[in-house]
Formats: sequence, structure tokens, C-alpha cells
Amino acid sequence: MKPPAIRCFGLTKQYGTVEAVYDVELTLYHGELLVLLGPSGCGKTTLLRLIAGFEQPDRGTLAVGGRVLVGPGAWQPPERRNIGMVFQEYALFPHMDVAGNVGYGLSRGHDRAARIREVLELVGLEGLERRMPHELSGGEQQRVALARALGPRPDVVLLDEPFSNLDMGLRSHLRTEVRRILREAGATAIFVTHDQEDAMYLGDRVAVMHHGRLQQVDAPERIYHQPATRFVAEFMGLAHFLPARVEGDALVTELGVLPRPADLAQGELVEVMVRPDDVTIRADAAGESTVVERVFQGAHYLYTVRLPSGMEIHSLQQHYAKHPVGSAVYARLDPGHALMCSVHGELQTIPLMDSEP
Ligand code: ATP
Repeated sequence: MKPPAIRCFGLTKQYGTVEAVYDVELTLYHGELLVLLGPSGCGKTTLLRLIAGFEQPDRGTLAVGGRVLVGPGAWQPPERRNIGMVFQEYALFPHMDVAGNVGYGLSRGHDRAARIREVLELVGLEGLERRMPHELSGGEQQRVALARALGPRPDVVLLDEPFSNLDMGLRSHLRTEVRRILREAGATAIFVTHDQEDAMYLGDRVAVMHHGRLQQVDAPERIYHQPATRFVAEFMGLAHFLPARVEGDALVTELGVLPRPADLAQGELVEVMVRPDDVTIRADAAGESTVVERVFQGAHYLYTVRLPSGMEIHSLQQHYAKHPVGSAVYARLDPGHALMCSVHGELQTIPLMDSEP
């Protein structure tokens, strides 16, 4: 069987007292696009630099395509790793034209010009070989940087926040393009971002990092709906933790009743994680909840609703569901997927709900 594209184990890097990367274990498969996501300072760039070889870890091992690059008695410098890099600031050589930049890492040979043409075609810049970097837009420069990284057919491509210098419109266009280009090239890639939307859009899997540790490595849907930790739950979007109590076979909340997870004891108090799209509201003069805010988001309204207990939660409704601020509503859980509950700080899955109470 083919070894994984990347395998790292116990990777750790400390700067003084800061554990920038701690005990990271990660496996990437060939052709996979993994997004490394986390807030500023969580260690994303350091982990990328450890993989690229710009930093030496304090401990841990790294193998690419089964070849050990870092480990006890092993160290391969960046130029021997066959890893392509795309940086935030493009890092093109300003005195070289597009062909010069793209051809930089390619050995001189009869197929060099053909490979330059091929990768420029892949990134949609055919015909721009003679342009200088300052004659290109930000988006075009980033495509040149990607073409340069893909030129030598690297085992892995690392992209460090490549869209952060681009405006919103270009950013969403380019992320569609980057995904297509990496797929067409059959590349294995790690893409670093602090943007949840980029992560969910791009990643075959998403690795969420916090304080140097990987909190969860999973499919985007699972990261969003079944977070492994409270940090992941809250980092991926609005999340409320609704108090709940085990009564008989049910888990009773203010927004309805859920099935009881098997391992919870009678009377146990837990919290159910609820996102705005898990809560439905309908106008009801006898309803005990009140709309306190309504924010128009184009296709949706985001409502803030005060429950009888005084707790405020969010509910995402279609744009035609108009409830005035101050109106009484009936609010209920309607998730359409298994919810999670927090038991003594640990998150676990609640079985699927059969129907509304
Ligand atoms: P950002 O999204 O802001 O780029 P990041 O997730 O990439 O952040 P890192 O740049 O990897 O985070 O930094 C992780 C931690 O390590 C931070 O606390 C940072 O201050 C620290 N750090 C990084 N590089 C060094 C260094 N060369 N010397 C000292 N501390 C460092």
C-alpha cells in the first residue's frame, strides 16, 4: 500500500515559554486538501514552517511519501523536501517576468518551456509569460505564485493565507480557482487560514488548531455540527449552550425534548449545543418567547429571541419569515441532524430526535 503523503507525529516547537506547536499528529493522503484553521497566534504558520523545513522541531517526526525528513538522526533541508510553498505576500521575484518566476525552480532542459506553458495554462494565465510582476493584479500574482509552486511537481504544496491580501470578491473567485487548480494538478496540499468560510469551502478535511494543539481533524460538516471541543464549537460559528436535564428517557430543554444519551444518569444536568439554524420560530400570540432583535442578511434573517428563562438565543429564518421586534413567538429545536451536548465540559452526540414533542 502507498504510504500517506504526509505523516507527522509528536511535532513540537517551543519559543521560550510559548508552545507554538505541541505534539501534533497528522496524516494526509495523496490528493487531499487539508485546511489548517485557527485564530491568530495558534501556531498555524509555525506548523507549516516545520513541514517546509524553515524551522527545526524540538521533537517529533515528519515523513513525506514515506521518506523520513525529520526525526531522530534525520534532517532534510527545505531544498531537498520537494515541497512547494505559496505565501501570503506572493513573494515573486520583481526583476523576473512571469515565465522567469514560474521557471525558477525547474531544471534547465528541453521540457522546461513546455512545463512553464502547461502550469500557466493550468492557472489560466497563458500568454502572460513576458509580463513583469508589477504589471499584474493581486489575483494574477497569486496565480503566478501557485504556478511556480506547482511547476516542479512537488509531493506537497503548502499555502499560507494566500488570499489575505485580496478583496472579498476576488477572494471568493480565487478560492474556487485554487481548488480547481489543485484538484486538476492532483496536488496534496495544506492550506492555512483563519477564515472559517474558506476552510469549509476548500477543505476535504479541516484541522482546527488552538494554542499549538490540533483540536479536531475532520470533514467540514463534522467540524461544524459535531465539534470535538467547546473551542471548535464556538470558533466555527454562533453556538449557544442550552441547559438541559435528564428526565426519564428524555433530555428536557426550554426549546423541546431530545432523546436521552444512554450514559447519562437521571436528573443529570448538561448543556445542548445549539446553532441558529437548529432553532425554528413561528408567530404565536400565546408564545412565551419574544423577538428582541432582527438582522437582515439577504437570504436570511438572524433573530435574537428571549426565552422564558431570560436566556437569549439566535434563530436563522428565511427572508420571508418576518417577525417584528417585540412580537411573541413559539421557539423550538428543529435541527435535522444529531445535536451535541456538553457533559462536564466534554462534548458528546445526542441520538437523533424522532419528532417534535
Ligand atoms: P497568524 O494567523 O497571526 O499568522 P499563527 O497561527 O500562524 O498566527 P504562529 O505565527 O505560528 O501563529 O505563532 C504561534 C506562536 O508562536 C505565537 O505566540 C507567536 O508569537 C510565537 N512565535 C512564532 N514565531 C516565533 C519566533 N520566531 N520567536 C518567538 N515566538 C514566535
